[in-house]
Amino acid sequence: MHELSIVANLFEILKEKAKEQKAKRITKVKLKVGVLSGVVPELLESAFDIYKKKTIASEAKLEIEKTLVKVKCQSCGFEFSPEDFTMICPSCGSFEIKILSGDELLLEKMELEI
Ligand SMILES: [Zn+2]
Repeated sequence: MHELSIVANLFEILKEKAKEQKAKRITKVKLKVGVLSGVVPELLESAFDIYKKKTIASEAKLEIEKTLVKVKCQSCGFEFSPEDFTMICPSCGSFEIKILSGDELLLEKMELEI
């Protein structure tokens, strides 16, 4: 499962940051997940719940914010968020579309108990 390795990586980062801050516990983790990242938020959540046991984040709540796709037309520079993944510029009809965001997976923030 793709999500398990993502969560494993995430926990490496969380542990390091908690150590830096000398935190006792991680209480909340917030992720930003682009709809094009290929990650299923529900699977990410269950992987997180499995992984967090016996870690510093065992009581942590996971919050996932889905981010929309943002694209830019290469012909006329128009920026938009396609709703149905039709990558055609509504302004000039060009197919030359570049993805600006929507495929990211970011650790937005974490809350610690020191
Ligand atoms: Zn255009």
